[in-house]
Amino acid sequence: MKRISLFGATGSIGGSTLDLVARNPDAFTVEVLTAGTDWQKLANAARATGAKLAVIADETGFAPLKQALAGSGTEVAAGAEALHQAAREPADLMVAGIMGAAGLKPTLAALEAGVTVALANKEALVCAGELMTGTAARSGAKLLPIDSEHNAIFQVLEAKERISRIILTASGGPFRTWPLARMARVTPAEAVKHPNWSMGAKISVDSATMMNKGLELIEGYYLFGVRPDQLSAIVHPQSLVHGLVEYIDGSVLAQMGPADMRVPIAHALAWPERISTPVSRLDLAAIARLDFEEPDRARFTALALAESALAAGGCRPCVLNAANEEAVAAFLQGRIGFLDIANIVAATLDQVSSQTVDTLGAVAETDAIARRAARSFAAHRLAG
Ligand code: NAD
Ligand code: MG
Repeated sequence: MKRISLFGATGSIGGSTLDLVARNPDAFTVEVLTAGTDWQKLANAARATGAKLAVIADETGFAPLKQALAGSGTEVAAGAEALHQAAREPADLMVAGIMGAAGLKPTLAALEAGVTVALANKEALVCAGELMTGTAARSGAKLLPIDSEHNAIFQVLEAKERISRIILTASGGPFRTWPLARMARVTPAEAVKHPNWSMGAKISVDSATMMNKGLELIEGYYLFGVRPDQLSAIVHPQSLVHGLVEYIDGSVLAQMGPADMRVPIAHALAWPERISTPVSRLDLAAIARLDFEEPDRARFTALALAESALAAGGCRPCVLNAANEEAVAAFLQGRIGFLDIANIVAATLDQVSSQTVDTLGAVAETDAIARRAARSFAAHRLAG
C-alpha cells in the first residue's frame, strides 16, 4: 500500500488522480487531500477516499468543511500554515497538483521532509528550480514528473551523459493555424477550449499562448539537468508522441500514448511498477499519420520569451512565471486581450531588475515584485 497525499484534489490533475486511486483500492491509501476554495468538492473526495486529513487553503471554508465532514473520521484544517504543515505529514508520495507558484511552499516542504513528489505543478519548479532540486538532493526525496512530456522523457531516459537532445512535443493549442489578427480577438472561452487535452483554465490558456511549452522547457532543465541548448520544443498537433530523447549514437527513443493525463499520473503513482488504466488504446491504423512542425515564434512570442528566460537563468524564470500568472488571470477576467498576455510578460521582464532567488523568501519577494509590475501593466491595458 502506498500512502498518497494529494495537493490540489479538486482540480483537473486532482480528479484524474482520485479516479486512479479509486480504481486501485489495494494499491493506494489517501493520507491528505487539499483544495483552494471548493470545500464541498473536497468534502466529497475526503468521504470517498477516507482521507485522514482534509485541508482547505481558504479559511472561510473551514466551518462548512468541518460540518460536511462531521462524523467521517477525517480531520479538518484551513489556511496557508495548515497547508504547509500537511505537506510534512508522513506519506510515500505527494501528488503536487496545485496550480501556480502557490504550490511552491507545500511542495518544497514535502521534499524537505524526504517525501517523493509526483510533480504536476510546473510553476513551482519554474520559479524555484534550484531551491527545489537542491532540497531534494539534500533530503534524498525523489521528484517524479507527471507533466505528460516530462513523464514521457522520464520513461525513455538513460544516463544523462549519453543524451544529445531532449525534445518536448506541443499540440500548438487551439490557435495553431490562426493569423495574428484573429488571435488578437480571441475570447477566454475560445482560449480554454483545448483541442486534445482537458485541463484547468490557466494551463489551457498557457497552451493557447504556447507559454506552457516555454514553462515546460524550464521544467525539463531542472528535472533532467541537461544544458538549456539540449532542450527543444516541436509542434505535433495529434498529441500522441509526448517526448523524445536523442542519444549520442543517433538513436531516438520516444514515448507515445493517448492524450489522457491518467497515463502519466498512473506511471508516477505506481513507479517503479505499472498499474492498469481504463484509457483508450492507440489505434495506429486509424491515426494513420503523425505530423511535426517548427513552432511559429512570431505569433507565439511567449515561447520565445520563456526560451530567453531559460538561457538567461537566475531570477528570469521566476519573473516570467509570476507575470504570466497575473496576465492570464487578467485575460480570464476579460480585463486584457489575448495578445496582451505575452506583451505584459515581456514588459515585466524588461522592468524587473535582477534579484536573487536562492531562498524561499527571495523567491517570494521576486514573485511579488513581478506580480505588482504585471498587474500595473495589465491595468494600463497594453496595446496588442
Ligand atoms: P486546476 O485549476 O484544475 O486545479 C488547481 C488545483 O489547485 C485546485 O484543486 C485548486 O483548489 C488548487 N489551488 C489553486 N490555487 C490555490 C491556492 N492559492 N492555494 C491552494 N490551492 C490552490 O488546475 P490543473 O489543470 O489541475 O493544473 C494543476 C497543475 O498541474 C498546474 O501547475 C498545471 O500546469 C499542471 N498540469 C496540469 C495538467 C492537466 O492536464 N490539467 C497537465 C500537466 C500539468
Ligand atoms: Mg505538459
